[in-house]
Amino acid sequence: MKLSKSIWQTYKETPTDAVIPSHQLMMRAGLIQKSAAGIYNYLPFAYRVIRKIEQVVREEMDAIDSQEILMSVVTPGELWQESGRWEKMGGEMLKIKDKGGRDLCLSPTNEEVVTDIFRSNIKSYKQLPQSLYQINTKFRDEIRPRFGLMRGREFTMKDAYTFHIDKACLDEGYDRFYSAYQKVLERLGLNYIIVEADAGAMADGDAKTHEFQVVADSGEDTIILSDKGYAANIEKAQTNRVGLDFDTTDQKMEKVATPNMSTIEDVCNFLKVPQTYSLKSLMFKSINGDKEQVYLIMLLGDDELNELKLANYLASDHVVPLTDGEMFSRNIPKGFIGPVNMNDDVIVLYDNHVNENSFYTIGAMEKDMHFKGFCPARDSQGEVTKIDLRLAKVGDKAIDGGVVSEKKGIEVGHIFQLGDKYTKSLNATVLDQNGKAVHPLMGCYGIGITRLMAAAIEQNHDEAGIIWPSSIAPYDIYFALIGKTEEIHQTADEIYKEMKKDFDVIFDDRKQGPGFKFKDSDLLGLPVRVILGERDYKVTGELEIVIRESGEKIKVKKENLSSKLKEIFKDIK
Ligand code: ATP
Ligand code: MG
Repeated sequence: MKLSKSIWQTYKETPTDAVIPSHQLMMRAGLIQKSAAGIYNYLPFAYRVIRKIEQVVREEMDAIDSQEILMSVVTPGELWQESGRWEKMGGEMLKIKDKGGRDLCLSPTNEEVVTDIFRSNIKSYKQLPQSLYQINTKFRDEIRPRFGLMRGREFTMKDAYTFHIDKACLDEGYDRFYSAYQKVLERLGLNYIIVEADAGAMADGDAKTHEFQVVADSGEDTIILSDKGYAANIEKAQTNRVGLDFDTTDQKMEKVATPNMSTIEDVCNFLKVPQTYSLKSLMFKSINGDKEQVYLIMLLGDDELNELKLANYLASDHVVPLTDGEMFSRNIPKGFIGPVNMNDDVIVLYDNHVNENSFYTIGAMEKDMHFKGFCPARDSQGEVTKIDLRLAKVGDKAIDGGVVSEKKGIEVGHIFQLGDKYTKSLNATVLDQNGKAVHPLMGCYGIGITRLMAAAIEQNHDEAGIIWPSSIAPYDIYFALIGKTEEIHQTADEIYKEMKKDFDVIFDDRKQGPGFKFKDSDLLGLPVRVILGERDYKVTGELEIVIRESGEKIKVKKENLSSKLKEIFKDIK
């Protein structure tokens, strides 16, 4: 591609809504253009990257005999009504009506459609397992689309679905995708961690689910890692505290005045006790359809609540903290909340780490007052219900005994054992060995194509711009001509043609000077830059090769250029 003929241009300014490097660099490098919030046009160089990522994914899917299909992006409302997700998907699903008034939606995911395809084609256990995938556009009306392609509303995903007669077969299929995803991420040259993910409320106990997380400071996910190997998304991570000390001195429960002390820190400082001798009280509301229930959550004073654990335990659509207004209207004194004298309609739940036979400081349900010496087993109004509710944190002990640390990650892939959720709700059956109709088990496997492009940039960039892993770089070589004469232009054309035989090359034949061209070239981040500088070339017959990642510069004679480049590309990841 000759740049003098291309639509490509770069920008000096970073748009104000671009706060992470991948978004900033994609905008500045002229790769994408915003169409609407969370919706982007992919310009030529970006689309080449996307196609390369798709190709890597496609090859690895084909290698495990998954069959590529393409499902419609617009899907009928009836299918979603049949599965019960028409309402459940909430605001993320963009619903539309056609001119006949029929309900349609833009696919946020495709379990319904693929199960419909399955049920009309597959009738016998003998045809199992089945594995189908597509690379297609998804639409999710994300509450906060942000970070460019990282969390878009319209994006490209590879989604795959498998169908199995039993759990053993599902496990086998799952493992194949697990390894295929490893291969994809290795080929893309990304540094990633596989973590245990949250399976949600409905999942049966041994349903496996893993996320593939690309490690990056800008990642929205928190990964909990043990130095012995355990890794889980913080949403799911179950860890234990180390060296926890309880107040076991037998004592009466008594009220103490704690004027204006509404934080655990203030109260514990005032009483000169560690925060683990106090309990944190949080008011939450669980919403299930049109049903609401209020809960009081009790955690050790310095622990935090994992809301997802709470929602899963309650099998709730979602849980939200009570607002100040809601607390006020229920006479619940914010900052001084506790289980004693709590309103009767509130259900109290304790975290597993609370020792019901120890003594704690709690809010007294009265402004400026706390209770000392509250013993859950002795003083609770009802049974003490304990469950795992706390958020894992650095320094905890993981279930494998290792010490916990934390990292930020970008979820680029997610694999999930769905069980018979969709085959049941959409009544997809096959006849088993005994001629009985059974619901096959399903797995689903997503990988974000456009998010991968953003993640690759998050991991591979510097001050000057992007540094593409060579497997997905839009082109291999940025060929910059610095010179004006007809003669040097001719030489450049020859070199360009020669290089194109072995590489994908863009030829910067524009009029601008070296400073401008080198800046653009660094920003775009192709693995290698080749410079034909008229002055040097006339004297030495040499060109210069610059490796984008290391900055290494190599002089090479024109006749050796091709072999040198081949040598270099062998070493580049
Ligand atoms: P997240 O937790 O980041 O919202 P998710 O768990 O909803 O993602 P999945 O339904 O598991 O996502 O989708 C599979 C993959 O699709 C994700 O791992 C991610 O790579 C990609 N993906 C999901 N949502 C988006 C989005 N809004 N923009 C870009 N890619 C996305
Ligand atoms: Mg996910």
